[in-house]
Amino acid sequence: MTRVLVIGHGMVGARFLAELRARQVPDLDLGVLGEEPHRPYNRLLLADALTGAHGLADLTLPETPGVSVMSGRRATAINRADKVVTDDAGGDHPYDVLVLATGAAPRFPAVDGLVGPGDRPLPGVTALRTWDDALRVRSHLTDGSRVVVLGGGLLGVETARAIARGGTEVTVVHRQPQPLDRQLDPMSGAVLRAALADLGVTTRTGVRIAHVTRGPDHIQELRLSDGSTLPADLVVVAAGVRPRTRLALAADLWVHHGVLVDAVGATDDPHIFAIGDCAEPASGCQGLVGPGWEQARVLADELADRLGGVPARRETASVDTSVVRLKAEGLDVVTMGTLPADDLDPSGPRVVSLVDLAGRRRVRVAVRDGRITGATCVGDPQVAADLTVAFENRFPVPDDPAALLARPLSERASPASVADLPAHATICRCNAVSKDAIVRAIGDGAASLEAVAASTRATTGCGTCTGQVCALLEAGTPSAPARAAS
Ligand SMILES: Cc1cc2nc3c(=O)[nH]c(=O)nc-3n(C[C@H](O)[C@H](O)[C@H](O)COP(=O)(O)OP(=O)(O)OC[C@H]3O[C@@H](n4cnc5c(N)ncnc54)[C@H](O)[C@@H]3O)c2cc1C
Repeated sequence: MTRVLVIGHGMVGARFLAELRARQVPDLDLGVLGEEPHRPYNRLLLADALTGAHGLADLTLPETPGVSVMSGRRATAINRADKVVTDDAGGDHPYDVLVLATGAAPRFPAVDGLVGPGDRPLPGVTALRTWDDALRVRSHLTDGSRVVVLGGGLLGVETARAIARGGTEVTVVHRQPQPLDRQLDPMSGAVLRAALADLGVTTRTGVRIAHVTRGPDHIQELRLSDGSTLPADLVVVAAGVRPRTRLALAADLWVHHGVLVDAVGATDDPHIFAIGDCAEPASGCQGLVGPGWEQARVLADELADRLGGVPARRETASVDTSVVRLKAEGLDVVTMGTLPADDLDPSGPRVVSLVDLAGRRRVRVAVRDGRITGATCVGDPQVAADLTVAFENRFPVPDDPAALLARPLSERASPASVADLPAHATICRCNAVSKDAIVRAIGDGAASLEAVAASTRATTGCGTCTGQVCALLEAGTPSAPARAAS
């Protein structure tokens, strides 16, 4: 009997259990310790839960049979000499193979009044990382409440938009000069700021929280670094995450930002592996579910190889992780590749752009050697879809690249057609599923979204590919030839 123990029953730990179970390893004793009291759920959709649009049951991930699940139990120590993990209830769990999937924890800025000893958030301050965090935020969204979201990156903007949808007054406080400063140039940031304002989200940029006035169990007011004040009942912190490595550090494993691992997830201890947000492979910590799910798949194959199972090497689509899409209703923001710091630099790529503040629209595209090397699109989902397809598939651009900035009026009703994509095009980025894999699943009898998801896993991550999968289902299948974007 081989005892495989997983610490962390989140998105990647749960996926690893499913992947390993599917490989029919003989005499396997599979167990998982999960600190959260719930079954694993889709963390990517937590912002949607703020409005009550999703209950926990809607987000819950499928269960893997034959796994001993220990929920509400936190691993507190790894004894590498005896190969035993201890939990916070005093239980001991022997292992032959240990997989760390402890994820990442939100960073809280060390501001008096926001955090207490050990940088723990004080009442009235929370992150949005867990289902319990979502419930905490939701409980504050009452009539007249005022929420401040600290951090104007992707998670901060998505969270603020979700809060505003419920009618609550929300302000984003961001240290940088504009929201999404890592993804957007200043003009795109200005357009996004205006679009956010239309949706009830105020942005205060270039400032930080200097002082917090609070009662014993609630926040009253924030003073910002420019001297202005903001009344607030709740502060939601979206200021980044750090890999959860405490257990690994205490066990003397090699840790840099995350637990250092090789290409199959092995740490410097041959019996211990790490995957997901807690792990640091050669490519670095990405904090994205797609790479974590890929690590889970690779490790399951590796262990199946070693333990006499059936490796299930599945063809995966190539995923360019530079493509970033905001998941916020009514806000279309997509960025990809790299754009130059200076659009007028003659040694850089050719850059064409459009800015339309009144139309809440901004498109900027860099082209070199007839291909898109980077693009940003705010406020035009059809153009964003076309740019993403052309970028990911390296389609040739038109002779006049300005044609990429807006769709001709005659075409505006139909977004980039999935039928036109080549077979190898990536549809589900979280699960690296190609159009071809989906078309084959439909051909094999998957007749609904649920059936395609069960067969290929497409749509089970951030869900932004759902429209394309539906279009493939409606089309009924046949694969069209590659389209040249000229
Ligand atoms: C609101 C939100 C939106 C996001 N949107 C996107 C997105 O659009 N695209 C994208 O790619 N990524 C997104 N992410 C990031 C994505 O959720 C993570 O990359 C993914 O969840 C990583 O999976 P994981 O299993 O490594 O970590 P987690 O899902 O965090 O799971 C780790 C689990 O381990 C548990 N644990 C930790 N320590 C212990 C211990 N000692 N004992 C027992 N259990 C322990 C934790 O409680 C947790 O349940 C988003 C994250 C959030 C919060």
